[in-house]
Amino acid sequence: MSFSYLSHLHCPKCHKTYPSDKIQQLCECGSPLLANYDLQSLKRKWKPSDLAGRPTSLWRYHELLPVSSPEHIVTLGEGMTPLLPMSRVGSDMGIERLWMKDEGIIPTGSFKARGAAVGVSKAKELGVRELAMPTNGNAGAAWSLYAARAGIRASIVMPVGAPLITRSECAISGANLNLVNGLISDAGKIVGQAVKEHQLFDASTLKEPYRIEGKKTMGLEIAEQMGWELPDVILYPTGGGVGLIGIYKALRELVELGWIQDKLPRLVAVQAEGCAPIVKAWEEGKQESQFWPDSSTAAFGINVPKALGDFLVLEAVYKTNGCAVSITDTELLREQRNVARLEGAFVCPEGAATFSAARKLRENGWIKDGETVVALNTGSGIKYPETVQVEAPILDPQDRMIRL
Ligand SMILES: *Cc1c(COP(=O)(O)O)cnc(C)c1O
Ligand SMILES: [Zn+2]
Repeated sequence: MSFSYLSHLHCPKCHKTYPSDKIQQLCECGSPLLANYDLQSLKRKWKPSDLAGRPTSLWRYHELLPVSSPEHIVTLGEGMTPLLPMSRVGSDMGIERLWMKDEGIIPTGSFKARGAAVGVSKAKELGVRELAMPTNGNAGAAWSLYAARAGIRASIVMPVGAPLITRSECAISGANLNLVNGLISDAGKIVGQAVKEHQLFDASTLKEPYRIEGKKTMGLEIAEQMGWELPDVILYPTGGGVGLIGIYKALRELVELGWIQDKLPRLVAVQAEGCAPIVKAWEEGKQESQFWPDSSTAAFGINVPKALGDFLVLEAVYKTNGCAVSITDTELLREQRNVARLEGAFVCPEGAATFSAARKLRENGWIKDGETVVALNTGSGIKYPETVQVEAPILDPQDRMIRL
């Protein structure tokens, strides 16, 4: 058996194929490339029971990941995060079977670790020495740290408004960090120019084909954790949409392997009202989104005004009979508090948006009575301390405790 069944790359737009044994970025038509595996051979050799006893990290699925040789794996122990029942929040919103896939405890504090682990490992295998990327914070933090572990140099450009902790993560790992007075799209332009001038490896969202392969493991894990019986609905906080495209890709690969039935969960792209290009496109029945001007939201990870893979996100939503829904910052911050109070989970604002969306979709009947729903919490709330208002009395040592 091979360690990886990666066979080649293909373009989902013009269908051109590319070899996967050398560095590839976008297709010559400008579309992202996706990884293909030899699923027919794999199907004959690989069964769910083969996973028993493997490490509880995303590398347990190495046959469906792109790294050909185990010595190139760069890992901090990412993956196999908990799938937790959320019965109190669930009953509060009338969803009896509500689950949270909790990425809050993954290395670097956000699910960007998955994309970074697989993307950096494959970059190392292909001989990359230096990479560059624009980021809203979490991706830059994760790629800086994994690049440090791989001995690869990283250059990161992020908005000055990105969560402060993500700056620190880049800085402490020795990355070359630049801040921009602007949005991730502005950071992207600066990186694009640097990539051209210095022939760097461009690790921007979907400009290399392997970050999505790391993120797809969330779909593999949800399927395995549910005993290969899928939920009715999965809600995903959508910026670039890599996680949603990845989950859809993973589930289709599992269908081809015969591990799950072909009735897929309805995938929901959740966005913030201050930045909802995918929601607008979905409401208008379009295949692509338009740039969202002056975008802003407290859920920084989903502040992406125009995603390169928008057509893939929309395709996944349409093909699964899913939907796209936007939430105000007030609603998502209220839900963040609610989840902490009822469940003891300090979720990130992006994750809170998925709970808020579940509440909305239950209220309007889109989520039906008795359905099983998985909300993705993509990171830890402790990376965003400024989202919480604290009012606490300050005592002198001889004072009595005030009990409100
Ligand atoms: C990046 C990010 C997202 C959005 O992920 P995409 O794959 O870009 O859609 C959601 N939540 C958090 C915490 C993030 O860092
Ligand atoms: Zn193409």
